[in-house]
Amino acid sequence: MKLLLATANRHKIEEISEILAAYPVQLVDLRDFPPVDSPEENGDSYYANALIKARFYGAHTGLPALADDSGLEVDALGGAPGLISARWEPGLSQAQKNLQVLERARGKPQGARFRCCSLLAYPDRPEVVFCDESCEGTLAAEPRGVGGFGYDPIFMPDGSAVSMAELSPAEKHRLSHRGRSLRGLFAQLFPHPAS
Ligand code: IMP
Repeated sequence: MKLLLATANRHKIEEISEILAAYPVQLVDLRDFPPVDSPEENGDSYYANALIKARFYGAHTGLPALADDSGLEVDALGGAPGLISARWEPGLSQAQKNLQVLERARGKPQGARFRCCSLLAYPDRPEVVFCDESCEGTLAAEPRGVGGFGYDPIFMPDGSAVSMAELSPAEKHRLSHRGRSLRGLFAQLFPHPAS
């Protein structure tokens, strides 16, 4: 099965490719097609935004399209940055955003979670296959580690003594919202994996 990775985020392309290496799918991405603007992500859920991206890029390429919509929810910030994690505080670098999250959450409950909806849409069919998943954890006292991307340096997954950015890629994928969500989606596509 040939699938389009419906994202221009190179970190997501890398992670999704690693997570799906075990499955019998051929992955292509938007670099293999004529350039196109990105769609407006104005949905009210991770599912809605994933559907927007899968339908938009699926129509552009004519391929089954696998989209990922994800974000970090911080309890002390009322669930922000959440759905707008990529667009939160646009004037700040990612390192500044990470410090800003920690600063605003200081002295408040430290609970947080990454969420991800992975969604596969076919260009010629109305139904979709999707899986919503999360990775619970707490904020780090300060940014730690250089792996991963985005908010990884300030997130300590439950049960881990190190931040998401200090884990190896394989360890991150085992725990992460994206790893869980993709494995949940692919368990629906391939319910009887070869042993
Ligand atoms: P999206 O492209 O609208 O789904 O934006 C996702 C945003 O959430 C990313 O740009 C990051 O800021 C954040 N995010 C999602 N997944 C991760 C992750 O695995 N690590 C760190 N940040 C993430």
